[in-house]
Amino acid sequence: MTLRLVLAWLHLLALAVGIGGVWSRARALDDSLRNPEDPRAIRRALIGGAWWGIATVAWLATGLWRVFAGTEKAPSYYVANNVFAIKMALFMVVLALEIWPSTTLLRWRRKTSEPNARDVGRIEIISYVQCALVAGMALAAVATARGYDVPSTAPLAPSDSAAVADSVQASTPAGRVDSTEDDPPIPLPSGTEVVTQADIDLLVREIAMPLDGLDPTTLHSNFDERRGGGTREHQALDIMAPRGTPIRSATSGRVLKLFRSMNGGLMVYAADSSERFVLMYAHLDRYAPDLTDSTRIARGQVIGFVGSTGNASPNAPHLHFAIARSADVKRWSRGKAIDPWPILVGAAGMR
Ligand SMILES: [Zn+2]
Repeated sequence: MTLRLVLAWLHLLALAVGIGGVWSRARALDDSLRNPEDPRAIRRALIGGAWWGIATVAWLATGLWRVFAGTEKAPSYYVANNVFAIKMALFMVVLALEIWPSTTLLRWRRKTSEPNARDVGRIEIISYVQCALVAGMALAAVATARGYDVPSTAPLAPSDSAAVADSVQASTPAGRVDSTEDDPPIPLPSGTEVVTQADIDLLVREIAMPLDGLDPTTLHSNFDERRGGGTREHQALDIMAPRGTPIRSATSGRVLKLFRSMNGGLMVYAADSSERFVLMYAHLDRYAPDLTDSTRIARGQVIGFVGSTGNASPNAPHLHFAIARSADVKRWSRGKAIDPWPILVGAAGMR
């Protein structure tokens, strides 16, 4: 956790230093154009360029470290994420643009050539373009962190569908997902809610399978599994399913909150019709069209589609399904978690 924080901090710090460096290089070159006799302008441009170079190296080093040391998501997550691909493409353009300016500036520094107005002007423009590209990269980085992805033109790329088939085959019976997953902290016990037998009975009567054709007896509970490096309990049921499988509301009720988080990705928090329970569906690929906060939902109504947004392995799309006894559903993120597995098994046995 500490390393993860420090790397994220250094990565962000490098961004700030880099933008500052390349911006001040552009400003200094502009000054040099206005006042070619002033040697200090070129010196300031060289200093700005040096900070820009240091930042770029620091940025790349911390970025690679974060991806490959596994402090963040699995490398495969980034490879599969199109927004991340855009960020890397922008970075490549920034680097490519830097080749000529850096060699030219190096020659000025070594005094093997003299600055001339034409080159000074060109490097100034390139520096501004790099600033804009870095700003675009920052946007892509924020979007990636929040689980955004751009759908590829083919709904399922061939390599992706093979991975889906693999992971479903490998993990459906056990209902387990690979260890790179770090599940969302979901309705947390707030200490006041008590789950009674009447609650359980009501849920068993009320609940339907959130996925078509789901036989809960082929799963097993993973409610008690440790997640987050052992720091917390999973407190939910993972149900493996191919990406795009419709997710059906397990009860009638209403949407409390459409939420997006680092860990949970796209999530639906819903209240059942008794307003005693909060049901949470996470890692969605997308929501059902027209679903908004406070939409009334019928049992069995499609609310979204299975995916791997948030901190789920892209090779193992699944529904993270949680139920909590709530003292007040307006506080949709709070409640006493209830293991969904025996509820689903009980409900399946009644039909
Ligand atoms: Zn889960």
